[in-house]
Amino acid sequence: MGNDIDSGKWDCFQAGLRGILIQKGDDAYEDARKLYNGMIDKSPAYIVKCADVADVITTVNFARENKLKLAVRGGGHNGAGLASVDEGMVCDLSDMRSCRVDLKTQTVRAEGGCKWRDVDHVTNAFGMATSSGIVSTTGVAGLTLGGGHGYLARQYGLTIDNLVEADVVLADGKFVTASKTENSDLFWAIRGGGGNFGVVTSFVFQLHPVHTVHAGVTLWPLEKAKEILTWYQDFILKSKTDLYGFFAFMRVPPAPPFPEELYTQNVCGAVWCYTGDFNKVEEVFKPITDTAPVFSHLGSMPFPILQGLFDDLYPSGHQWYWRGDIFKELSEEAIDKFVKHGSEIPTVHSTMHIYPIDGKVNEIGKTATAFSYRDAKFSVVYAGVDPDPKNAAKISTWAKKYWEDLHPHSAGGAYVNFLMNDEHHDRVKATYQENYRRLTQIKEKYDPTNFFSINQNIPPH
Ligand SMILES: Cc1cc2nc3c(=O)[nH]c(=O)nc-3n(C[C@H](O)[C@H](O)[C@H](O)COP(=O)(O)OP(=O)(O)OC[C@H]3O[C@@H](n4cnc5c(N)ncnc54)[C@H](O)[C@@H]3O)c2cc1C
Repeated sequence: MGNDIDSGKWDCFQAGLRGILIQKGDDAYEDARKLYNGMIDKSPAYIVKCADVADVITTVNFARENKLKLAVRGGGHNGAGLASVDEGMVCDLSDMRSCRVDLKTQTVRAEGGCKWRDVDHVTNAFGMATSSGIVSTTGVAGLTLGGGHGYLARQYGLTIDNLVEADVVLADGKFVTASKTENSDLFWAIRGGGGNFGVVTSFVFQLHPVHTVHAGVTLWPLEKAKEILTWYQDFILKSKTDLYGFFAFMRVPPAPPFPEELYTQNVCGAVWCYTGDFNKVEEVFKPITDTAPVFSHLGSMPFPILQGLFDDLYPSGHQWYWRGDIFKELSEEAIDKFVKHGSEIPTVHSTMHIYPIDGKVNEIGKTATAFSYRDAKFSVVYAGVDPDPKNAAKISTWAKKYWEDLHPHSAGGAYVNFLMNDEHHDRVKATYQENYRRLTQIKEKYDPTNFFSINQNIPPH
């Protein structure tokens, strides 16, 4: 065990754990250290697979007292690889995945290592869902702490807008609850401020009556991309919030349900999710079918099926390089650039998504939570993805060029969860805008030594 920490301390630490301590050389080490993004290769000295809140407290105290760098792992899905740290210790919550629905309050409590598929599985059984993302394997913790946008955002707000309370282990090992009435400054900060303030051991989310949705994919040829993206912006922003659709440039995967003549073609498309009255499906989708998509695959499905639609396309271990931007509008000049780079999608897994963040997201004030872009309409990700490490440079170059060309048209910051590991700290500041200063003050109060620094870091004031 660690050369400069005496063996008595290690024995005591291990004896106090219900979970498992893994270190370099152990059989379980290689698997345990892997991150979702195969482009990022980190070798922590120790990984603590926490079994419960007590393990998290023990781990935080041990790392702090012994001056070990501590990373916190929820779903391990972060593009920038912030769930691990070279030579330090990982507080890994991935075995803490229990969820419980409370029917009286119409809420769900999800432990800090849950993935969204865990939550959706449990809540769907009761005919409900909360606002999350678009891929079921994404971690609840990282997504929520950054804000969280997905299929239900226009109707029910960001994930943080549905957060009722969170249990947090602070840098000094104290366990607190953050809500509107308890530690309200901390509650404000964790609604967008990332993992800067403590380890969240459980989240309580408000649920909504969403069980079966009418959803799926429509595709158009690249020749129509400018016309369709122009139409999409106008259509989605005018639609009722029970319809959600994100726009994409993509290369058609060579597999069903896509028709063979489209295999490996670069196209533009949209993924839809309608939660409203099913008697109105035809009427609601008519403007979409009127655009004459070259492929349309729409139907009714339980919400968790929609959430899992892309899971097979994006298993753990692919190379990922992404950049993000926030837009208040897509000007004609920006649309031309979106089309130019979108037409040059480099690999079958690479994509560019434009996620609407209007509707309910815009009803909340800019300073009401740490997430600051309440007046924006779209969150964009330029995602270079490929299974083969040999293509790492190709996909990164494409994503960077896309970003460099579009960024001048953007609102300045990004969705914090779409920042990459090679971006300057100014990008974090730009992302929080006027909320940045308050975040540094709350950081000073709850984590004055910046113990939680392996994140999109907000140093203390
Ligand atoms: C395929 C894919 C699809 C995605 N789709 C969406 C989407 O639709 N909507 C969206 O909003 N985002 C989306 N994201 C981005 C996603 O929100 C981030 O990658 C997020 O960081 C994932 O959370 P995680 O728990 O898996 O991350 P991790 O990698 O485990 O952690 C990310 C950060 O959060 C901190 N953290 C993790 N757990 C805790 C905890 N319990 N307490 C305190 N801090 C913690 C970590 O220290 C780290 O800094 C997607 C990402 C991928 C790869």
